[in-house]
Amino acid sequence: MNRNTEKGLLRSNILGKELFSREDIEKRVYELGGKITADYRNKDLILISVLKGGVIFLSDLMKQIDLPLSIDFMSISTYGIDDASTGVVKITKDLDQPIEGKDVLIVEDIIDTGLTISYLLRNLKSRLPRSIELCTLLDRDIRRISDIFVKYIGFKIGEKYIVGYGLDYKQKFRNLRSIYELKLDTVKKDIESLKSS
Ligand code: 5GP
Repeated sequence: MNRNTEKGLLRSNILGKELFSREDIEKRVYELGGKITADYRNKDLILISVLKGGVIFLSDLMKQIDLPLSIDFMSISTYGIDDASTGVVKITKDLDQPIEGKDVLIVEDIIDTGLTISYLLRNLKSRLPRSIELCTLLDRDIRRISDIFVKYIGFKIGEKYIVGYGLDYKQKFRNLRSIYELKLDTVKKDIESLKSS
């Protein structure tokens, strides 16, 4: 999405505050990549991302990890009530390779209640990886329900619904380069008009 379109969305009151700019994200991803590089030397690292939201973060993060590694993807559908996660998860695309004996790092866009990720953790742990850790770009820990440990966190965020840099609202806005709050009240009526733009 070009800058004019991004600015247009801001002007048209769909996007709220820019929470993290492209430069903020680049800098933090670089730092996280450095930490992961230091922690995973001489290990058999595999990054696992959950489609689709985590894909942009994964592709930027892996370039900042100066180690041999592999990647794989899972796709899940979650059953929510009023957009809230219930932790009831169905795997719609599984990993392409076994993870037994590997050092797994799950790369997520956002962890909110933690219900989705704790289901995934249980599922992946049963496949006997040597280690398994979590890396999330965004952590909304104020809404956390599951007791999970997140080893690598990009930024902590508050309550507001956010979009951009992989994160969507009804499949839109993933291609924004910064991360924005979404004005949910105005967007509900405006989303239709984005279909053809
Ligand atoms: P959890 O099970 O941790 O409550 O939900 C995590 C999932 O909910 C994320 O992977 C993401 O798909 C979605 N999610 C939670 N909060 C937000 C948000 O503020 N914006 C967007 N776009 N998705 C969110």
